[in-house]
Amino acid sequence: MADLKGLCMKCRDANNKPTMQTMNDVKVEEKESNRGVRYSAKGKCAQCGGNMFKFLSKDLADELRNSA
Ligand SMILES: [Zn+2]
Repeated sequence: MADLKGLCMKCRDANNKPTMQTMNDVKVEEKESNRGVRYSAKGKCAQCGGNMFKFLSKDLADELRNSA
């Protein structure tokens, strides 16, 4: 599967800002809304194991599902 990175709210840098970390165990989700389908990914931070969440574009969601 392609590497997906997202902001981890637990892994913070020296300025206490969330940092970009690789997401493991990625699951792509689709949700219908009144503005169309929203795509998101849920996974676990490769550094701390904490839960991560990220909104995806349709293209990226398709790419992740095709490479799974
Ligand atoms: Zn983390």
